[in-house]
Amino acid sequence: MNKITNHLPTAELQAIDAAHHMHPFTADGELKQKGARVITSAKGIWLKDSEGEQVLDAMAGLWCVNIGYGRDELADVAARQMRELPYYNTFFQTTHVPAIALAQKLAELAPGDLNHVFYANGGSDANDTNIRMVRTYWAEKGQPEREVIISRWNAYHGSTIGGTSLGGMKGMHGQGSLPIPGIEFIDQPNWYAEGGDTDPEAFGLERAQQLEAKIKEIGPEKVAAFIGEPVQGAGGVIVAPDGYWAEIQRICRKYDILLIVDEVITGFGRTGNWFGSQTLDIKPDIMTVAKGLSSGYVPIGASIVSDKVADVLAATEFNHGYTYSGHPVACAVALENLRILQEEGIVDRVREDTAPYLAEKWHSLADHPFVGETKIVGMMASLALTPDKSKRAPFAADTGTVGYITRERCFANNLIMRHVGDRMIISPPLVITRAEIDTLIERARKSLDEAYEIVKEKGLL
Ligand code: PMP
Repeated sequence: MNKITNHLPTAELQAIDAAHHMHPFTADGELKQKGARVITSAKGIWLKDSEGEQVLDAMAGLWCVNIGYGRDELADVAARQMRELPYYNTFFQTTHVPAIALAQKLAELAPGDLNHVFYANGGSDANDTNIRMVRTYWAEKGQPEREVIISRWNAYHGSTIGGTSLGGMKGMHGQGSLPIPGIEFIDQPNWYAEGGDTDPEAFGLERAQQLEAKIKEIGPEKVAAFIGEPVQGAGGVIVAPDGYWAEIQRICRKYDILLIVDEVITGFGRTGNWFGSQTLDIKPDIMTVAKGLSSGYVPIGASIVSDKVADVLAATEFNHGYTYSGHPVACAVALENLRILQEEGIVDRVREDTAPYLAEKWHSLADHPFVGETKIVGMMASLALTPDKSKRAPFAADTGTVGYITRERCFANNLIMRHVGDRMIISPPLVITRAEIDTLIERARKSLDEAYEIVKEKGLL
């Protein structure tokens, strides 16, 4: 058997990949015909593929490579930590320096009294922790019937049984008989798609007030928590209208319901502050983090927990944890990543310079005949494709047909943009420069022009 290296021809790598590798969120049969794009290396915001093409990664991988690719400091820290202590757990009254140091750092960065860290391997299993944690919290408080967690349709909270259940993706629920019992949903604050003629703020308020109606329907004595992303990411970078989060928080407080804010995407500078909760003035009881915590260099996630919740849990043994909770190499790399984000002023630069610059350029795409709206918060942005911008109309073709065509044009123009249905989304590395933003926008406009022509030719307008 050949040793598999970057030097093998692309077609050979693709054939072996198709024969043995099952891809996440992919129709493997279809991919087999085409062959996957093989990425061989990366630096800054640029990927290199096996054909030698330089690709602008406007998604930072899966919204995670906040400091950009190719930082040697992280590799050095990982190697050093592997030599010193490659593994030990934090079960059974043991700890180690990387887990201690990262927990202290997260407590310092996280707002309010979010002072306690329970480690996971990523966002999905951190949300699984949250399900068990909030139910245990209420059981310890003598209210074990408080089990229900309310989430939102079109939310994304992961792909484990728990994460999929918390998420509001119907296509995911359909595979594996989910959600698990005790998860309920309200509608998302997606004004563009669902707001009709209602004024956006009135619509946002209506959607937030569905939470109160749902709590009353279930019975407040049975509700444990509400979970939401500050800005829905995988749902299409949906930004709630002003006033939405204030109303959600008013309702949570009124019924003494815990607020879990899923910051897996919005954490670590993505919105121009350390956390989306700061950008949107949200005060969570528990925060889910992952992705940007290590800039994706190693898998790690966590629940950052308030004094209020941690104090109650401390009274019992929480029978929960993963072999790799607080993995020393992952913690050491995450800590170094946070040092770089902080010492190089990357979060401040996003807020003060590059995010406003990207916003101006992104909104300039709104003049395109194909674009119904442009939205942006910090370094995450979306635009809606439409056949008729005056009506925010959807396409007659199946949702996602036009989005897919547009994504394929981006791909051909060496720009990674994703499509969610017929919305195009970006979430570039936070280190992207003004000049690189110009390139991103040029390629996006070219791809939109080309997709528009194809869609016209196919009679999809
Ligand atoms: N929550 C949110 C908001 C996410 O965007 C994601 C991943 N896209 C997850 C949870 C799941 O994280 P992971 O893939 O690391 O399990």
